[in-house]
Amino acid sequence: MATEKLKASVIAEIDACRHQLSELSLKIHSNPELGFHEVKAAAWLTQYLEENGLSIERGICELPTAFRGSYGQGKPAVAILAEYDALPDLGHACGHNLIAASAIGAGVASKLTIDRFGGTILVIGTPAEELYGGKVIMAERGAFNNVDMAMIVHPGVHDAATTQALACLGLQVEFFGKAAHAAARPESGINALEAMLQSFTAINSLRQHIKDRARIHGIITDGGKAANIVPAHSAGTFLVRAEDAPYLDELKQKVLNCFIGAATASGARLEYKWGDVSYAPLRNNLTLARLFRQNMRSLGRKARLFDPRKAFGSTDMGNVSQLVPSIHPSVAIAPVEVVAHSPQFASAAASEAGIQGLLDAAKALAMTVVDLVANPEIVNKVKDEFEQAK
Ligand SMILES: [Zn+2]
Ligand SMILES: [Zn+2]
Repeated sequence: MATEKLKASVIAEIDACRHQLSELSLKIHSNPELGFHEVKAAAWLTQYLEENGLSIERGICELPTAFRGSYGQGKPAVAILAEYDALPDLGHACGHNLIAASAIGAGVASKLTIDRFGGTILVIGTPAEELYGGKVIMAERGAFNNVDMAMIVHPGVHDAATTQALACLGLQVEFFGKAAHAAARPESGINALEAMLQSFTAINSLRQHIKDRARIHGIITDGGKAANIVPAHSAGTFLVRAEDAPYLDELKQKVLNCFIGAATASGARLEYKWGDVSYAPLRNNLTLARLFRQNMRSLGRKARLFDPRKAFGSTDMGNVSQLVPSIHPSVAIAPVEVVAHSPQFASAAASEAGIQGLLDAAKALAMTVVDLVANPEIVNKVKDEFEQAK
């Protein structure tokens, strides 16, 4: 019963901060900053946390726009993660402004829970989710070493307590050919663009024979300089995704073979580089997810355990979820036909529905913190599930 009363108090606390949280979120939305350049957002977020009584460490993990806010001490240490990076040209078309404000709102409200039951609440600011996998770097540099559980809520088009996310690795490819007059002396040229086009064709053929949930996709970033010059150089960027790390490894070689074959056929020289940052698949802790779903439902959202779209991309939260029990639920802020990374989603991230999503996400997070901090046996269950699934 004590926990029900406490949950009512954290909800009231978040409602009382509605104005500040929505303002913070809208301010980040109208000042979009790309990965590792989220200087304003990190400053506003840490200032808010500091003014509300959390201890702040800025620039953790040698990343200037990463931070950690903490309150309390000892176990359990529950981390709520914030993202605040935007997308090139599209601004906050992934709604990370809402993630940031919900994490901050939940973190501050959780002070009540820590005062009552002990333990530690952490708000960890994780930059550059979209472009550089900030959490991958932070995980490698120990940001989650003393964390017992990690949670982050992403805006979407469904209320769901889990997310499916694939392992993912980037690939940069270049072909070096030989320039020549494309009409007068084509026989003297080596066509680097043709090598790239053949690579795409080979990948398209390969795609018929890969596992269902694997993905290979790419773009050409240099296809030549003029139509009357045989392209001496071509370049492309690709992403390879798979359900698990072993299959990603297998797929890597098959994809690479497509480029090697095209190099042989065209005579162009291949250079390639795999990405430094490898996204791990997301492990959903279902014990945590069920708690979160229950709390979402108590707020009047018909949250499901699994996203009915069964859509999947990749997220650097995957790497965190390999280290500590984690959830990455989604909160609906737009109709189902709206897709993330679109101008429509960017508008939704600044809409009334977006703000409502932010507040409900903050409340459900803070209520889940109550469940965890007040019930050591639930923490054990969360950890047991994590260990058994290893
Ligand atoms: Zn995104
Ligand atoms: Zn996102």
